[in-house]
Amino acid sequence: MALWLSDSVGLLPGVGPRRSEQLAALGIESVEDLMWHMPLRYEDRRFPTDIASLEDGRPAVVLGVVVSAEVRPTKRRSVRMASVEIEDGSGAAGALFFGGFRLAALLKPGTRIILSGVPTPSGRTRKHIPSLEFKNPEYELLLGDAAKAGARWGRILPVYPSTEGLPRSTLAEIIRSCAASPELVVEDPVPREITVRRGLMPLRDAFTGIHSPSSLEEIEAARRRAAYQEFWDIQAKSAAFRAERACGRATPLAAGDGMLERFRSSLPFALTPSQELALSEVSGDLNGAVPMRRLLMGDVGSGKTVVAAAAIAKCAGASMQAAVLAPTTILSSQFYEACHRLLSPLGITTAEIFGKSKNAMSASEREKLEFDLKSGAVGVLVGTHALLGDSIAFKSLGLLVIDEQHRFGVSQRRRLLEANAGAHVLMMSATPIPRTLSMALYGDIDVSEIREMPQGRKGVKTRVMSDNHIGELYSFMADRVIRSGFRCYWVCPSIGGDSPDEEAGAVLSRARDVERNIPGVPVTRLHGAMPSSEKRDALRRFKEGDPGVMVSTTVIEVGVDVPDAVLMVIEGAARYGLAALHQMRGRVGRGSRAGICVLLDSAANIRNSRKLRVLLECCDGFRIAEEDLRLRGAGELLGVRQHGTLDLRVAEIARDGDLMEFAAEDFRSLKKTLIYCQWPDG
Ligand code: ADP
Ligand code: MG
Repeated sequence: MALWLSDSVGLLPGVGPRRSEQLAALGIESVEDLMWHMPLRYEDRRFPTDIASLEDGRPAVVLGVVVSAEVRPTKRRSVRMASVEIEDGSGAAGALFFGGFRLAALLKPGTRIILSGVPTPSGRTRKHIPSLEFKNPEYELLLGDAAKAGARWGRILPVYPSTEGLPRSTLAEIIRSCAASPELVVEDPVPREITVRRGLMPLRDAFTGIHSPSSLEEIEAARRRAAYQEFWDIQAKSAAFRAERACGRATPLAAGDGMLERFRSSLPFALTPSQELALSEVSGDLNGAVPMRRLLMGDVGSGKTVVAAAAIAKCAGASMQAAVLAPTTILSSQFYEACHRLLSPLGITTAEIFGKSKNAMSASEREKLEFDLKSGAVGVLVGTHALLGDSIAFKSLGLLVIDEQHRFGVSQRRRLLEANAGAHVLMMSATPIPRTLSMALYGDIDVSEIREMPQGRKGVKTRVMSDNHIGELYSFMADRVIRSGFRCYWVCPSIGGDSPDEEAGAVLSRARDVERNIPGVPVTRLHGAMPSSEKRDALRRFKEGDPGVMVSTTVIEVGVDVPDAVLMVIEGAARYGLAALHQMRGRVGRGSRAGICVLLDSAANIRNSRKLRVLLECCDGFRIAEEDLRLRGAGELLGVRQHGTLDLRVAEIARDGDLMEFAAEDFRSLKKTLIYCQWPDG
């Protein structure tokens, strides 16, 4: 009788109600779940080590015969220990099993036993006692039915995570016999010509190779096939998302192309080639009736805002409204200013909406805004979450822009997309995500990348400095930066946790120190404990007042655009992540003069930090993101919130990135040639 992946594990021989329950505790209900229950590691039992050639500290598997076994007390009265001696013709070794009272009774002299573990000196020197012994090794008795016992010998044995009451060897046997069963039918979701072209084995063989391997090479080939399958499944899921999205209907905005052209010609600069490309991709999406879901990635300062503003202009030109959602009030204000500057000459009205904090809008201001939105008098509304309030209703929302979209949680983002199913959505991120990751994370959306900086950008020079040279830094700031008419950022370390008060303390004391050392220079303070209106004022003073220093915590974050800020000092630099440091330094060097970023830390931290070295050598956000991925692994790079979306058991992004690209490419080619068909369940 054929055994299908969708069958319940209860149908397997040897799996009754009790085993079924234990397997369910491991998340295994179907045969498919069982096949995707991956080994933690493998134990190579093909080649037993001669006891005579055991080495202290080197893991080994030995096959021997019990010479003697005795139960001994230990220092703790309740704990006993079975002390066993085995030999294999080449020599003798000891084994200690703690709590091995019942075991000792089984270990009759002459019993064949397999031990796997790390031998260490026994510490007992009497002559007839073996000098090496295993402490609590994995073991297996070869009792009675030698054929069955033999099945676990002479092979590479997968070791699985198990659960209470289900011995690992039992679980392994259930999985092995299922994977090896001639009855198991695995419908390969990937067409044969593709697997053949990629040199991948059929999925059926991958299950055998993983769970019942005959060589290490087979394990790796099987693992790659399973990893490919995971990436393939992501693509399939994305395709399903897309199909669903295609059912939503957005208003095509082609009527706005005239306005888009006017926008272009009003710009004081030419767009960079990748801005052009991104804009044409966005513009193409906007012409369609399928709602756009596009992510625009680009380093800080690469000019994403301009592309977004162009899209907004097109939307307004088609007589539809646009909304811009930003994660912080500062970024919101900044976006508002950019929109206002770029769009009001074209007759497009931009408004900003504020949240409920102290500086909230007055009731009448808010009422007027709500009215203007409903009447269509306001073309673009920019704000933080306040934008999502119930009383905010647009006359006709055509485009939603989400700035720094990764700052919104996955579920928040999903809700936003669902609530605006009929609107075009442009997401932006200054945290470039390696291509490989973006495919796994955002397989269901399109991605545009801005890869180069606008011309004339002088870039950022990065230096590390130990904090006992802070005096020199102050004089450099005073003489070379501020007196030449440029501005400085000084980022203070956020101290432990997220306490705004402590952070404020660090900012205030550093600000006093700067004032003492560079008398007469305006010092602006900015920290998380300040109300939003004060933060905005501080930023404005820093940007428009006499050249000075802004001392802040990382609250000012990425995206802040002050073209004549040229120096960025990051205190306690070694504690930040690579991506965060790269983003912070991206805030300088945006004007005509090269930026300078000083990474300040203790001499020891500087010496020990590989991160800081990467920053010194590399300026490309995409490459830094790849490096970050290598240094920290995908989970951390994405943060816990996003991690949940990457449901990979086998594949490792850093190792199997090529497979991810193959899967995406292959899946696309497949869709062109045939309709993807899903096998019905059961
Ligand atoms: P991002 O949002 O990607 O961080 P912005 O859109 O804020 O970057 O752009 C940073 C600065 O560069 C802005 O002052 C903007 O006016 C300017 N800029 C953008 N595109 C260009 C370009 N093609 N040429 C020259 N300057 C540009
Ligand atoms: Mg920006």
